[in-house]
Parts: sequence; structure tokens; C-alpha cells
Amino acid sequence: MTQDKYDVVVIGGGGGGMTAAALLSHAGYKTILVEKLPFLGGRASSYEHKGYIIPTGVFLVLDSGELGEVFKEVGAELRVTTATPQRVRIRGKDFQPPEKGQLKAVLAAAARDQAEADRVWKAIKRGLSWQPPSAEITFTEWLRQYTDNESILGIWRGLWANVVGGLPEEIPARAWFDLVHNMGPAGSEGGYPAGGHIAVWESLAKTVRAKGGTIWTRAPAQRIIVEDGVATGVVVRKDRQDISIDARVVISSALPNITIRLAGENTFDKGYLKEVSGQIRVPFFTIIVGSNRPLYPYAAGLMLGEMPRLSMLTVPTEVYPDYAPPGKHATWFLSAKCSPRHPYDKKAELDMLLRDIKEAFPEYDKAGAEVITAQFFDGDWPGFGAAVGMEIECRSPIENLYNVGDAVTDPAGCVPGLSGAVHTARLVIQDIKRRFRPGEM
Ligand SMILES: Cc1cc2nc3c(=O)[nH]c(=O)nc-3n(C[C@H](O)[C@H](O)[C@H](O)COP(=O)(O)OP(=O)(O)OC[C@H]3O[C@@H](n4cnc5c(N)ncnc54)[C@H](O)[C@@H]3O)c2cc1C
Repeated sequence: MTQDKYDVVVIGGGGGGMTAAALLSHAGYKTILVEKLPFLGGRASSYEHKGYIIPTGVFLVLDSGELGEVFKEVGAELRVTTATPQRVRIRGKDFQPPEKGQLKAVLAAAARDQAEADRVWKAIKRGLSWQPPSAEITFTEWLRQYTDNESILGIWRGLWANVVGGLPEEIPARAWFDLVHNMGPAGSEGGYPAGGHIAVWESLAKTVRAKGGTIWTRAPAQRIIVEDGVATGVVVRKDRQDISIDARVVISSALPNITIRLAGENTFDKGYLKEVSGQIRVPFFTIIVGSNRPLYPYAAGLMLGEMPRLSMLTVPTEVYPDYAPPGKHATWFLSAKCSPRHPYDKKAELDMLLRDIKEAFPEYDKAGAEVITAQFFDGDWPGFGAAVGMEIECRSPIENLYNVGDAVTDPAGCVPGLSGAVHTARLVIQDIKRRFRPGEM
């Protein structure tokens, strides 16, 4: 069965795909987005379980930055209650870094004395303003030249693993400095959307439909149609039928290995296949806890560097009590400290995370706390789509087939996570606008 012709077909309704579809339909391109799951938002969405709102990935959604700009541009409503600033637990004490000079203040709190804090800070400043360190050594190897203080190392193990994905003992030293250049200092902002994370994407979907765009959920792309090295459409399964959609451009926000499967390996060149097969996905682990009393009294939560697994927690019910059943509180715990480069035992990781939670919050049992969900995020539903430095570019070797998402990068510099997915979608839309006008099939 063949559908109408579209200017663009977007595969995947996560942050990257939804941004692309919203910007395209707003600019007048005839757009269809197909999502294989029953809901939109991918790894930045939410669902309900036992009366609790459970995130499918991201804990805090940034309403500032590029996502906020996209909502403004297309006239969609984004209702996020900011839950900042985050606190940081260093040497067993909770501490709220100032808004400006966060890293310097956190360093000072972790250092044994002022001389150590100054030594590390100077090295960082030099790396940022003069010459970043070599990619030949890891970030930890670089930092150990200035300190052996585990609390300082923990700043990067805890805080930065959450933000950029990957461990400082495995990330090339240079990668961290490059990221700070692209992103600015460690972002610990963000908030909770009213109605759960899914509301963000439903709001964007409304604007897509209002502009004549089409969104299908429960509609997995089966195949990207490639003719003579050019993408010309997608075959989608909907209501048990295979539907062929012709389009001038195909944007895939599915992970690059999935996109290759959809288009067929033999349509790509060998170098590209090697790049994509070399990508390492970053695993995250989460435990969502319900309790009769709040486990932590701040909505924005806490970053923890020194614990073996626990790296961050947030408390959405401090902002929206309806994220939990009446009378209950929810605390979301994240571990981003498992190596993506070595085999890991998922059950053991979750056990370690729960052990850390109980150690960090000894009142766990007294507060009537119980695990609502314990999840690992890896494989085709990872924490981050690519370990830092392993992202591929937006244009694929197949003409008119683009990738967007968190496994994709801007050649001018990578932005990680959901912000990266939104950023790459914006880049691709700029490229499409430069190349084709709406209706120019
Ligand atoms: C626990 C956790 C915490 C995180 N915290 C943060 C954070 O604090 N900050 C941050 O920036 N990022 C964070 N991230 C990362 C963030 O969630 C992702 O980077 C971002 O959501 C990725 O968006 P995307 O559009 O690239 O991919 P996705 O959200 O994965 O979207 C891809 C979509 O494509 C669909 N799809 C796949 N195959 C097909 C097919 N054949 N046909 C149709 N549809 C298909 C999928 O179902 C999915 O909906 C976190 C992730 C996790 C798991």
C-alpha cells in the first residue's frame, strides 16, 4: 500500500525526532513522523506505574537552552518547573555550590587545603583557556598529575558521568575540555514538566498536527528505501499493513546501527559501517523509590561523587505531589558509574545501586521506602547513544538520509544527551532548508 508523498519522513519520536518534525512542519514542509512505540518522547518521556510517574530516561528536562528555543519558535507550550540548583555531597556533607563559579567552589570543598584547590583549578583554567591536554591520556591520568585526592576525582566520576556519559578513567582528557567549550560549565539545571515528561512531547505533537504534519505511533519503520544511493522513502508497518511512504528526505532519530539495519548494510560504505559499529553506548541504571516520608527534602536533588554507584538523585514530589500516589513521595536515583567499555552484570549493578541508596539514606526503612522500578538502560535504549568522541555526523553516506539524536554530533563540537538530540535536529533542519523548499519534490 502506498501513501501520499511527503517532503520529509522522520523515523522515531524521541527528543531528536520530535524537534525535527516540529521545526519542519512549522516551516511548511509536508512531514510525517513514525514512532514504533505507543508513546512519544523516547528516552525523555514518562509513563505511569502503580500511581507513580516513571521516567523513560531523562530525570530533569531543561526548559532553557535549545529545547526552550524550539518550543518558542513553533509556539508550543512548555510547562517545566525548574528544580535548581542541585546540591553536591562531598566528604559526607551536602553543599550547594554558588550559581557562578560552581566548579571552583566544588573543588574547594573537596580539596584537603587551599593549595591543592588552587593547583587543580589553575591546571583546569590553563587547559580551557590555553591548550587542552592530549587525547592520548585519560582524564583521570591527567588529573592525577595534580592530585591524588579521591574526593576531587569523585567530582568527575559523579557529576560529569551524569552529564557527559562515560567514566573519567576511560574518557580521553581532551574530550572533557572540548565538551566544556561546547556546553559551558557543568549544567545541573532542569526541572519537572507538569503532567510528567510525556506532556512535553504531546505539546510539541499538537503543534505538528496543527501545521498539517502527521504523527503515527505504534508504527515501526521496517525499511528505508534506497535507490541508487539516494533515500527515497520508508516502509512502515501500521495496523498490520506495510505502507510505503515516498519522501524527498528521510531523517532517522533511531540509533545509527538501527538506521543501518533499516537501510541495509550493503548500501553504506565500509568506513561508515566501521565508525558506527565502533560506537559504544553508555549504560545508566535507575531505581525509583516510593516512600511515606521524603528521603531528601529538596526537589533539585543531589549529585554524589564518592559512592561506588549512586551518582545522582532527584525528588519530583517536592515540586509535583502528583508524581506519586496521594500521601507518597518519589525519589529517583541514577547510577552513571558503570563502565561502558567492559562487560557488566546488570543485576549486580542494580544491587550495588540499592546498597548505595540505603547507605546514603539510613532512614530508608523507617520512611517506609520501597523500590517501585529498577531499570537498566543499555543496548538499543541506552543512557547515552554514544560514548563521548564516538558520535557520527548528521549526514549519512546515503544522499538525503540524515541521522539526528544523541549518537550524532555537530562537526563544530559535540553536545551530549537530550540537548544533543535537539541540537542535531536543528542542524539537520537548517541543512534541509538550505537545500530544498517545501513541496520541492
Ligand atoms: C536514565 C537516563 C537519564 C538520562 N539523563 C539525562 C540528562 O540528565 N540530561 C540529558 O541531556 N540526557 C539524559 N539522558 C539521555 C537522553 O535521554 C537521551 O540523550 C535523549 O533522550 C535521546 O533522544 P533521541 O531522540 O536521540 O533518542 P530516543 O529518545 O531514543 O528516540 C529514538 C526513538 O526512535 C524510536 N525508534 C527506534 N527504532 C524505530 C523504528 N524502526 N521505527 C520507528 N521508531 C523507532 C524509539 O522508539 C525512540 O522513541 C538520560 C538517559 C537515561 C536513560
